[in-house]
Amino acid sequence: MKKRNTVLILGIISIILLITVQVMIITGVWRQKDEMFNLRYRLFSQDALTSINRRLGTDGFDTARMMIDNFAEKAVAEISGMTDSAAIELKKKDFLYFVSFVLNEEQDLSGLISDYFERRRVDKNFKYKIVVNYLELINNDRRFPVYMSEEYSARRPVRRDTIGTQAQEGRQRPPGMSSEILVKADRSERNYYRLDFDYFIDFTDKQKIVLRETSASLALSILSILVVVTLFYITYKNLIEEKRLSNLKTDFINNMTHELKTPLSTITVAGKTLELPLIRSDENRILETARMIGKQSVHLNQLINMILEISMWERTQFQLDKKKVKIENFMNDIVESFRAGGGSIATISQKYNFDSRDIELDIVYFTTMINNLLSNAVKYSDKDPVIEIEGFTENNSVNIRVADNGIGISKNDQKHVFDKFYRASTGNIHKYKGLGLGLYYVKKIAEAHGGDVSVASKPGKGSIFTVSIPY
Ligand code: ADP
Repeated sequence: MKKRNTVLILGIISIILLITVQVMIITGVWRQKDEMFNLRYRLFSQDALTSINRRLGTDGFDTARMMIDNFAEKAVAEISGMTDSAAIELKKKDFLYFVSFVLNEEQDLSGLISDYFERRRVDKNFKYKIVVNYLELINNDRRFPVYMSEEYSARRPVRRDTIGTQAQEGRQRPPGMSSEILVKADRSERNYYRLDFDYFIDFTDKQKIVLRETSASLALSILSILVVVTLFYITYKNLIEEKRLSNLKTDFINNMTHELKTPLSTITVAGKTLELPLIRSDENRILETARMIGKQSVHLNQLINMILEISMWERTQFQLDKKKVKIENFMNDIVESFRAGGGSIATISQKYNFDSRDIELDIVYFTTMINNLLSNAVKYSDKDPVIEIEGFTENNSVNIRVADNGIGISKNDQKHVFDKFYRASTGNIHKYKGLGLGLYYVKKIAEAHGGDVSVASKPGKGSIFTVSIPY
């Protein structure tokens, strides 16, 4: 038990370790692929800018700049004439809003980059984002600062406030993993304004592409985890099964010793009795003792044969010597001789509906099989045994159902009662004697006839065993 728990705990710890290592590897690979993706597309977009500039002589913001120029000229003239600071602020806000709007709506860069990417056959599904960092209006030497992002004022030049409408619904950047690529950082001063903005692109399919690139390592990791988990599961199951079998064997040896000892000690005592002068002079007593020795020897012989036979089955194929019999008559004979022997204390009823069918059977094995079921029905009973035997044909099979009013079998034990050496939880407690071979025998014989046996039972209520043999 202790060993099993240690194996289980060690196994679970190793699996957790393995999963952690794999997750770390995959995260590393993912990060690397992600960075490579960004690097690749940063280079592509720089190439795009150079190519657009060379071919078209524009940076994609010409229209926007012209519109801002016009607006700025008017705005600066208005502001210069204003004295009310609230009105000035309002005008500035107006200008900032206009600039952001125009930068987003009137730029051609996104379309040009997209065309360029298409020509180069690389992914072109990106969103763009324009971030204004600094904006001021200029009138001759007078400067009217309109907007300055916090980072800009702290002289941190990368990302500042986000202005723009289209690309803003974007997600938050995870720390250390930039999802946006800075394509263009524009710093320009014109007659009436100074503007500093950044243009970013963000690939919508990036996760998908990175996932595709990582999928091989991901699949390998999952596979290795699955393999290890399966191996562990199989090993652990085998360990438990081995433990169960070894317990069964120990129980079997204890039970067998007990079973063999009983007739042997009776024989020993009887032998000693025969030596007594008092007995030797009484012929009847001699006969009685001799009979007892004979009976116990037969029992001993049966036990030994059963064990020998079972170990022989393990090595060779089951050999049946089949004969055609009328199943109803045959069942009547078996039950009759059972009644005359160990079954005398039981009330046995029979109900057959075999349509006077003939069936091919090995008479000896089949008798043993039914006898085992009947003697179990008597043995595992805590009151006067009542056995109902029912026989019928169904699905091209002859079915024989043996129902008793005995102690019943728990659900868990029902799964194992046909296993070799298995004895329900009574184990080697000798209240009910046995070796755990009777039902194993029943199943082997039923299977050798091409059939099977099943059990249905409720503890305390009784059990029903059904043997079916095809005809
Ligand atoms: P044995 O009787 O020698 O123990 P069997 O293989 O015949 O071995 O039976 C296996 C186990 O199944 C028994 O130990 C017993 O617990 C249970 N069993 C078998 N038949 C019955 C029955 N009719 N009623 C209750 N329990 C039974």
